[in-house]
Formats: sequence, structure tokens, C-alpha cells
Amino acid sequence: MASGYDDLPIVFAEDAETGELCHVDDVKRGLACGCVCPACGQRLVARQGEKNAHSFAHRSGECRWAAEHVITALSKRAIEERGSLALPPLSYPDACKGRDVEISPARTMRVVSVVTTDASGRGAPDLLVTVSGGGSEATFAVLSCLTHGATDAQLDSLFEGMGGVVEMDYAADMCERRRGLGRHYDRDELAMAYQDPGLIAGALLDEGYPFKSWVRNRRAEEAARESVARHNEDMERRRKEKVAREREAEEQRKAEEEERARRERERQASSIESEPIADAGASPSTPSRQMKAPTGHSLPDVAIQAPGARRYDVMQWKICGKEHGSWYVSNGDMDAMVTESGDGWCYDMVVDLDAEVLREALSHLGELVHGCVDFTLCVSASGARYTGKLAVSDGTTAPVTVRMESGDAAGALTALSELLSLNVKLSMTYRDSWGNAVGRRMVSIDVESRRIILSRDMLEVY
Ligand SMILES: [Zn+2]
Repeated sequence: MASGYDDLPIVFAEDAETGELCHVDDVKRGLACGCVCPACGQRLVARQGEKNAHSFAHRSGECRWAAEHVITALSKRAIEERGSLALPPLSYPDACKGRDVEISPARTMRVVSVVTTDASGRGAPDLLVTVSGGGSEATFAVLSCLTHGATDAQLDSLFEGMGGVVEMDYAADMCERRRGLGRHYDRDELAMAYQDPGLIAGALLDEGYPFKSWVRNRRAEEAARESVARHNEDMERRRKEKVAREREAEEQRKAEEEERARRERERQASSIESEPIADAGASPSTPSRQMKAPTGHSLPDVAIQAPGARRYDVMQWKICGKEHGSWYVSNGDMDAMVTESGDGWCYDMVVDLDAEVLREALSHLGELVHGCVDFTLCVSASGARYTGKLAVSDGTTAPVTVRMESGDAAGALTALSELLSLNVKLSMTYRDSWGNAVGRRMVSIDVESRRIILSRDMLEVY
């Protein structure tokens, strides 16, 4: 990696005989200095002229790592002399919080030992510093960079087996200083300024030196990994919760949909119930012709017909069919539509306009109504059983009148009259002059005139 700082002048060199670090001002001039380059081992020339700053120079060729060697040597000496080292603050990128979280502030540690290492293989040695504190020791690498940094692979090699790697980034420091000097800086002078024992010691011991940082640290990396794991777990948990919420919402939606459908079926069944018979007047909008069935009894019981059971025992009826949520039941003499409302069973019982049938219905009224929340007796004047003549008058304003002309009209009307007096809801179905089945509510019975007065409001007929 060639850079503008290759072949920088150095102000310290090694005594060829003793290996001691010597300042250029402390040796003889020229080759007589007896010094060699700490990086390449070449004999050096001590330049001690009047014009330029004093420095050592290589006699031939360039040497890229000389300045780094000098700084590392000065660093080792400073740490040994002071017996301490200020470690930079330690933090890690927390994946959950989305920011850096501090593990420990900058702190000065007592140094147990300091040695050089070529573990990074970058071309200059680095330091391995063992510090103690809190009853334990830890070894960190200290990487000093003036002209060359270290690649990731070189950092990895240096980090191997260490608690961490602290980088002294004098290159960045120098850059900053160079910016302050503007265009009027002298590159060589600047580089030589960093080969100063006082500056090096100050940077190493200053807890606030801004160009000192952890470039590798086991605790921070472990904390970062754990935060990523927590973050992933958190994301997974949130994802599952989201799925669960969506499933719950979907189930609720389906339940509401089913409930709506059920209500719709009930509504339709209810409107079908109102279809059948002539609703005798009263409330046109409430065709309650239903009858009711015993609450607490399930409909399937109706399908069991016991031998000899009474005709009107609704519990003995057979189910003939089911439609729109209602059951059509019959015991052979009477039909009924049974609908379950929110409160219980509603019976819409259909019987023929026949004196005997009506009298029997009257005598078994208690059984019929038993358990029903709503009971309506729908009298059919259009069925086969009724063969008498029925006069129907469909006045446009006056109530509809049904007049029985023959058959046991008196008996039928008397029974109907009694039912009406018992507040039984009565409706009637018949064929109008066009042959259509029409249903109306019975309003009153006039036995004398053989008239059945119906409401003007039509019911749906089933
Ligand atoms: Zn050299």
C-alpha cells in the first residue's frame, strides 16, 4: 500500500551495537552514527544540517515501515515507564435499540507486561499489553498506525487469542492536524512530530485521546451477537404475535360472518313463517303466526311418534322437512312450522278450516302452546278438508270478510271465536278470486252472520 507517507524521515533509530533506541541528536553525524533502521536493518545516515530538521535517512531505496517501527518502539517504552495504559471506552451496536450501547467508559489499567508481536503480519510490530484489574488479567493488542493501517485479515490475526485490539490512529490525528495547517504544512516535519516520546506517552495514557478506539473486542462482539439474537427473537415473537392476531381477527371475522348468516337465515325463516296464513289483522308487520314448542325439548324428539299418542301432542310430531332454519312438522292431521327464535320455539300451526279439527285444537290448546314463545294457529280455508263455500269480500277499505256458506260453519266459527277469546293468534289462508293463496290475520269472528273478519294486511303464505 504505497502512500504519500512512504519513506518518511525518522528521528529515532536503533544503535547497531546495543539495539537501543537513539534520537538523531544524540548520535554522531552521518554514517558515523552507527545506527540501523528498526524496520529494514539498513545502515542509516544521521542528517544534522543547519537548514532542515534533523533525521535519519536510508542510504538507498525506500523503507515503508520505518516510522511505524519507531512509534511502536516509543509506545512500548512509554508503557513500560509509566506502568499503565488508558483503554478507550467500550461500546457495542445494540440491534434491539438501534444504537451503540456503552459497556464501560475509558479507564486506566495497570500494566503487567508489554511485548511486541508480529502477529498481524502487516510489516510493523504491534504491542501485546497485559493489564490487571478487578482481580483478573487480560491481554490486549495495541496497534499504532501512522502511515499504514491494517487490513481486516491482519486485524483478525492480531485479535487471535486477545481480549481486544486498541488502535492508536495517528494517521487520523495527523490528517486532522494537517487540515488545521492548511496548505502550509511540511509533510516530513509533521510525520516527525509524531515520533515524539511525550506525544506518544500522552496519547497512550490519556483516557480522552480521540484517536484511540477498540477495533476489536470480545465483550463487545459477544454483546452485539447477543443483541442480534435478542433482536431476532423479538422479531420472531412479534411475527408470531402478528400471525396470531391476524388468525384471531380472521376467526372473529368468520364467526361474525356466520352469525350474520345465521341471523339472515332466521330472518328469512321468520318471513317465511309469516308467509303462510292469513294474518287476522292486527299488526300487519308482525306476522307472528308461530307457535311454539316446548323449550328444553330438542326438535329431533318430534320425530319420534309414540303409538297412541294424542294428535295434538306436538312432541309426537314428525319432521317433514327443514328449510331456512325452520322445521315443517306434521302429525297427519295438522302441519306446523317450527322455528327457533332467540327465546325458544315458535310454532306456526296450520289446520284446516274444519269444526272438528278446530274443536280438538281448542281442547288441546294447553299442549299446543306449552313451551312456545310464540304460537299462531293458521286456519287454512284452501285445504282439501274444507269443502264448504266461503264468501270472501276483499273490500279495498273495509276489512276482508270470509263467509262460510256451508259445512259445519257454526261449529268452526264457534271454535275460532273461543280461540280468539283466549287470545290465541289466528290467521287464515284462502284462495282469492285469482286462485292465489292469501294470508291474513283474523280480527274477529261473527258466528251469527258466519263471517270471519280479516285484517287488510296480507301475510306471506307458505
Ligand atoms: Zn528501513
